[in-house]
Amino acid sequence: MILLQNILFDGRPVNLFIDGQRIRRILPFPQTEGLVADETVDCTGKAVIPGFINMHTHAAMTLLRGITEDVPLHDWLDRIWDIEARVDEEFIYWGTKVACLEMIKSGTTTFNDQYWFAPFARDAAVEMGIRPYISFVILDNFDKETAEKQRRKCLQLYERSLGWSEASHLAMSVHSVYTVSEEMILWASDFAREHGMKLHIHVSETQKEDIDCRKAHGGLSPTEYLDSLGVLGPHVIAAHSLWLSDHDVELMGKHRVNCVHNINSNAKLASGFRFRYNELRDAGANVCLGTDGAASSNNLDMLETMKTTALFQKAWREDPSQMHLGELMDAATVNGARALGLDTGVIREGAIADLSIVDTDNSYFLSPGSFLANLIYAAHSDVISSVIAQGRFIMRDRRVEGEKEILAQARKVLSQI
Ligand SMILES: [Zn+2]
Repeated sequence: MILLQNILFDGRPVNLFIDGQRIRRILPFPQTEGLVADETVDCTGKAVIPGFINMHTHAAMTLLRGITEDVPLHDWLDRIWDIEARVDEEFIYWGTKVACLEMIKSGTTTFNDQYWFAPFARDAAVEMGIRPYISFVILDNFDKETAEKQRRKCLQLYERSLGWSEASHLAMSVHSVYTVSEEMILWASDFAREHGMKLHIHVSETQKEDIDCRKAHGGLSPTEYLDSLGVLGPHVIAAHSLWLSDHDVELMGKHRVNCVHNINSNAKLASGFRFRYNELRDAGANVCLGTDGAASSNNLDMLETMKTTALFQKAWREDPSQMHLGELMDAATVNGARALGLDTGVIREGAIADLSIVDTDNSYFLSPGSFLANLIYAAHSDVISSVIAQGRFIMRDRRVEGEKEILAQARKVLSQI
């Protein structure tokens, strides 16, 4: 058992006991109720927050950061796909390790990934102690042969995933309606439903995607098209969901879809910024936050994502009361847990112990103002001093095991591509 002693939780000093994977007791400091810990960590001057859940990543793209800048999404994709044709298992493994390193250092304990060579991404993440939701990516480019090959590979990966521990999960990914045939969208959707898997898909990231889909599918938007195929449901994770009509919002709500907002990527690629957070929430959709891959958003920092999300929501609606701090925190934590069906994303007795310890002994937290405002709007993620995932320390005092080796191996991989 681990005791986080004298740690601030909701503004009060508490003793927080972690037993195995879960939070056992949260008691007003200095009470212990006779509980004895194997390890006591003095957390005076520190605060506890839930671990962030990054709901849309392409983790290994961390190694492609900065190589394609100042171009719109469709040109960006062409350039990225050209490089990705040379990507191999080693690249994915070490790229995902680098991504995990950055995610851990910025307080993320779970991520929902969509990228190639999924088993290697999975191994990298599990070794780092962070919880991955990885997926088989369906992207057939409307080619029958590719589709057949992907179906076979997907089945193999699914079989393999049955032997995985609970530390990782396999989801199904469909890249998008503009890269995947109707036949394969339906196949993936059926497969996901049949095996109780999440279905991760890019939806309406750009206006072009919306226009092209309407042209190709008798006036239907991507959301309407997916609805017409019977794909939408509470197991669907719709990355971006940016260019949505009123009817699209209604459909997302009706089917309780999990919509993932990735503001840094959207703004930087000029895909758009008028994400309809309030409308989606009010319609019944579950809104979460993600960073997207580091080749577009350049980092995987959820704290930065939260700040940018709030700034854009307030700005485009011309209303500072929008996207208040509590909602922002929920979107980065518990909403993601809900989307993935995990008992985490909150600091609560009985919940899985995925949490960060925030160092408040610095200028950002001097004022008597709101802790969350200081954390999200003023501080940077280096105030996160330690991270616990599934009851285990994965970062202590900013140190993550194997960091030097990961950087060295990643440099080697990059020199070979
Ligand atoms: Zn993406």
